[in-house]
Amino acid sequence: MHYFQKLFFPLLALAFAMPVAVQSAQSESFDNRNNLTMAMAWKQTAAEYRALYHQGFNLARLRVELALAQAGDNSKPLAVISDVDETLLLANDYWGYLISQGQDFFDDRSWDKWIAESRTVASPGAVEFLRFCEANKVEVFYVTNRDQGESTDRLALENLSAAGFPYVDGQHLRVLRESSNKEITQQEIRQEHEVVVLLGDNLNDFARKYYSTDVEQRLALMEEDKDHYGQDYIIFPNPTDGHWIRAIFGDSEPPPSNENRLLLKEAATRSAWSP
Ligand SMILES: [Mg+2]
Repeated sequence: MHYFQKLFFPLLALAFAMPVAVQSAQSESFDNRNNLTMAMAWKQTAAEYRALYHQGFNLARLRVELALAQAGDNSKPLAVISDVDETLLLANDYWGYLISQGQDFFDDRSWDKWIAESRTVASPGAVEFLRFCEANKVEVFYVTNRDQGESTDRLALENLSAAGFPYVDGQHLRVLRESSNKEITQQEIRQEHEVVVLLGDNLNDFARKYYSTDVEQRLALMEEDKDHYGQDYIIFPNPTDGHWIRAIFGDSEPPPSNENRLLLKEAATRSAWSP
């Protein structure tokens, strides 16, 4: 090999390798600054995340079995009330899309487009639990607050039906477009049914009194009701959205501003060791 070749080829190799290495490091550091990355890596990969759904539905099934055993001839028919998004239907595909687009906050416009494609999937154990309810004549009511305009009900029914859930009809689906207050609907259902469990990923799925923008108050209200959890309240994990977000930002769907990124950092460092 000539001296020139000896020098040239390694330099040529370096010239091709360098930009790739630099580029990859840059895109990595960019992704790591996205607020959603850790939460979504957990949702997309952790067996622990999926196990929490099984744990919740196994517990719900126990409560239903107990209620069936205790039900008398004259008692009201048994029912289960469930939230929909992030309780029965998962939207990891949507959150993954946001990160792939460099977005670090929820985006309502793309959410509406995504919902229309019916890409939600059943959470682990959800179909089995709801089918168990159906087999035992325990009615399931879906109480959700969603708003995709006039298509809201149709899209929700399509999403639930595609997942293979029972009782997917206008009688069992209750959509709240204007408000997230589920208590009125819960009370209507309770008039005709003995509700065994409420399923949700947000405290507001259980009771309206939790609708507070104060972090301390939410924590205290939940502690007051600690005996309900695992009994008639079954809660599922959601580290990306919900009223816990509202308690930090004052808005369930905060805009992607630097002020909000700072608020998130403040929340994350609420307690922080400073040696
Ligand atoms: Mg939900």
